[in-house]
Amino acid sequence: VTETSNFTIDGDLIREIYLPRNEFSHKGNFGKTCIIAGSFGKIGAAVLATKSALRTGSGLTYILAPKCGYEILQTSCPEAMFLYGGKDFIQNFEVENDFICGIGPGLGTDPEMEEKFLEFLNNYSLPLVLDADALNILAKNSENLNLIPRNSIITPHPKEFARLFGETKNSFERLNLAKLKAKELQIFIVLKDHHTQIVTPEGEVFYNVTGNSGLAKGGSGDVLLGMIASLLAQNYSPKNACVFGVWLHGKAADFAAEKFSKEAMQPSDVIDNLGEVFKKLY
Ligand code: AMP
Ligand code: MG
Repeated sequence: VTETSNFTIDGDLIREIYLPRNEFSHKGNFGKTCIIAGSFGKIGAAVLATKSALRTGSGLTYILAPKCGYEILQTSCPEAMFLYGGKDFIQNFEVENDFICGIGPGLGTDPEMEEKFLEFLNNYSLPLVLDADALNILAKNSENLNLIPRNSIITPHPKEFARLFGETKNSFERLNLAKLKAKELQIFIVLKDHHTQIVTPEGEVFYNVTGNSGLAKGGSGDVLLGMIASLLAQNYSPKNACVFGVWLHGKAADFAAEKFSKEAMQPSDVIDNLGEVFKKLY
């Protein structure tokens, strides 16, 4: 591995990646993001991911969630369109072929869910953003990993990474294993941690330095998934969607910490501070 394949994500890189919105654009220019998330008792995960996708600029935003989340989602995210996925959990993974899907927060891992999700993957080939229970289902059988569409993005935290690919002794070994798997599966791996690392299929590693311990709370990962899916839908390449998404998430979290403290800030405050970050990019 040469030095040139390791990068720190800084303001210069972000300004290179950032695509300003053309004033003559319309909603059709900013993609269709589809968040597939939630189950009875975990609809909040779907709310966070959807709000996050909306605030990241998605042109049209859809949410495939169970009926038990219908009123909650239509009330808390009126800008998003609700797609019926089943009664208490998602059983019907039907999506249009121009949707960019972010899948996993609060899905659950029941055998029936597992069957439906794997069946969906078997018939799907566009890049996906996969997190949380989507990864936990994949981790049940190592052969499942081959079902991940090429150029997809997975966003495991250290425990999810270990479930997917096995235990490693330290973060150095984990990074090397991630490089191996990203190449083998031709996917992008976002190793979420204090300093999140993004590993590309070409063996590049991008280090993020934004973010703070105020993110160490349930729901932070759901917010990141919404951001990355939204950027991917807006025509950012998978690599740029990961790099920009991870940086944005941390930067918005830094604004939230400044306003509310690391203790009091909530994942929803991270979403609410996205505007502060985008304004700085103009
Ligand atoms: P999850 O565990 O899926 O909720 O994801 C947690 C998110 O918060 C990831 O994006 C992590 O990188 C971020 N995060 C968690 N703890 C910290 C920390 N101590 N410093 C910076 N970022 C963190
Ligand atoms: Mg998570």
